[in-house]
Amino acid sequence: MALDYTDRSDFDNADRGLVGSLDPGQVSNDKGEVIWDNDVFAFLRGDGAETVHPSLWRQSRLTARQGLYEVTEGIYQVRGLDLSNMTLVESDNGVIVIDPLISAETAAAALALYRRHRGGRTVTAVIYTHPHIDHYGGVLGVVGRDTDVPILAPEHFMEHAVSENVYAGTAMLRRGAYYSGGGLDRSPEGTVGMGLGSAASTGTVGLIAPTVEITATGQEETLDGVRIRFQMVPGTEAPAEMHFLFPDHRALCLAENATHNLHNLLTLRGAQVRDARMWSRYLAEAIELFAEETDVAFASHHWPTWGRENIVRFLSEQRDMYGYLHDQTLRLLNQGHTGVEIAEQIRLSPTLEDAWHTRGYYGSISHGVKAIYQRYLGWYDGNPAHLWQHPPAEQAARYVDLLGGVDAVVAKVREYAAAGDLRFAAELGSHAVFAAPDHAEAKETLADVLKRLGYGSENATWRNCFLMGARELREGIFPTPISQGAGLAPAMTITQLFDTVALRIVGPDAWEEQLTINWHFTDSDERYRMELSNGALIHHPTSRDLPADLTLTLASKLDLLKLLAGGNLDGVETSGDPDTWGRLLALTDQADPDFAVVTP
Ligand SMILES: [Zn+2]
Repeated sequence: MALDYTDRSDFDNADRGLVGSLDPGQVSNDKGEVIWDNDVFAFLRGDGAETVHPSLWRQSRLTARQGLYEVTEGIYQVRGLDLSNMTLVESDNGVIVIDPLISAETAAAALALYRRHRGGRTVTAVIYTHPHIDHYGGVLGVVGRDTDVPILAPEHFMEHAVSENVYAGTAMLRRGAYYSGGGLDRSPEGTVGMGLGSAASTGTVGLIAPTVEITATGQEETLDGVRIRFQMVPGTEAPAEMHFLFPDHRALCLAENATHNLHNLLTLRGAQVRDARMWSRYLAEAIELFAEETDVAFASHHWPTWGRENIVRFLSEQRDMYGYLHDQTLRLLNQGHTGVEIAEQIRLSPTLEDAWHTRGYYGSISHGVKAIYQRYLGWYDGNPAHLWQHPPAEQAARYVDLLGGVDAVVAKVREYAAAGDLRFAAELGSHAVFAAPDHAEAKETLADVLKRLGYGSENATWRNCFLMGARELREGIFPTPISQGAGLAPAMTITQLFDTVALRIVGPDAWEEQLTINWHFTDSDERYRMELSNGALIHHPTSRDLPADLTLTLASKLDLLKLLAGGNLDGVETSGDPDTWGRLLALTDQADPDFAVVTP
């Protein structure tokens, strides 16, 4: 690889149009707790450090910039006030907000920064580009919960906002703390950012359901005098996502599908695998649909690209990168290679490899290729010796026994690490720790190996994962910094809310239990039936009125939210045996937000 550190165009673009910054670059919640701090990344203004990969240092320096920027006349972005960007498009009577960050507090601060420089325009519409939390979580910082301004989103937004962030939400948050470096210092020895942005804010998350669904490519909407033309791009970086052109501004919003890094096909926090083939194809379509009418392309992370020639080259290279990774993975898996093997073989063309915007700061070729394999063929690599392996602690005990005990394994870990084979040293060290979790030297030795892996990593999320692992080995379990479930609940459907109960039933405790509950919501006259049998809580809308152990009559979904939050039936109209509800709740347990990762 021949990365050109003298090429300053990313720095020029990242600084272009700066109107003003937030000073100090901090945002607090109403309790006075700092939930966003950009100033802690000031150390990145230095030239680099032994402990940070130089290419990652460069990227982190770019993502640490902060302020209000003019994209083109009438379009502004606030960047560096959260993981994502908030884009503001001035309309006849106010301003349209695209992607209101993660937290209400950062979104409000971003809007205030904009207003300080552009006047007190009211928000006339909100657009969510896709259902990831860094693109809607702060909506209550820009409009009130009972707002009547239109809120636009791609179709199936709500379904995916919930399934991506709630069902597996606790585990994702825990793993997310690892890949975001949530428990690390901001320093050359800690986290330097996430590649996609500096960090995620930790304020108040909320969600208002969209009121206008965008369903078709070519669909046009006019919001307070601003014309917008949409392209549907489902199954790309998110299952529901859209690009859109502002034809009167000659400006193109690419949501999160063309950013200044190789993006994730499968995020390390965990999610469903994305489709590299469609991702590539929709970028090709975006060039086809919009390039002739575009002078600036921007996204909800990183800095814009100006000039048609630059935009087409940028989009073509992004298109080629995802298409190439997809096609080559398929070619090689059809020759019998497994994901782990293909990940070692694939290299991008020299042109792509040396372009800054294709570097793996957030995604990587290594885990992207494994994700493509997983999408098509799943976790099983086809080798029956891998079909029924022992789980990690069981495996570790046997390897450690085979190698002559923990002390002998730790000595071998040191040998491999000293020889520079940190990858195998980490594997061996993890066996030692899983076999003997109280062995201080095993933990310290593995922590040191992980730290070295982190310091050498060009990928920001890999770095964070390695360094968080080292921290947990040295300091023990740390708490996951944020929880988001409660903020999302009001926007969930009744079925989704029932799912959150079903996901907490302790199966074996419920094997012998049988109960039925009928639900009636009087405001919508909707009825649901819930049945517990064989340890599974099944629920569905119904038009029938079958007998049940308990019938609950609620005025609205709001009452259900209260019932789920409080746990008891106070104030709820019941018929039948009210103890049925208590019996059901007694069969549930709670997710563990702080589970162990690097120890058994
Ligand atoms: Zn995002």
